[in-house]
Amino acid sequence: TYVVTDNCIKCKNTDCVAVCPVDCFYEGPNMLVIHPFECIDCGACEPECPSHAIYVDDEVPRDMAEFIELNAELSEIW
Ligand code: SF4
Repeated sequence: TYVVTDNCIKCKNTDCVAVCPVDCFYEGPNMLVIHPFECIDCGACEPECPSHAIYVDDEVPRDMAEFIELNAELSEIW
């Protein structure tokens, strides 16, 4: 799955949402998140993000690892 990280916070750009073929972006309190079970790993959103906030889960930088769980929580799968 793809994961939205730190740089998304307060970003108002939604080009990522516009290109997602399965509408798996959800709005958190101050950032967008990706639903980990709905994301089909197409990768379309990653180059659209002007903040470079989107990573495939196994490439999320170590200091942003908590965002993997945060995306899952905020898209309400638990
Ligand atoms: Fe949507 Fe594809 Fe990005 Fe997953 S990788 S969030 S399916 S655009």
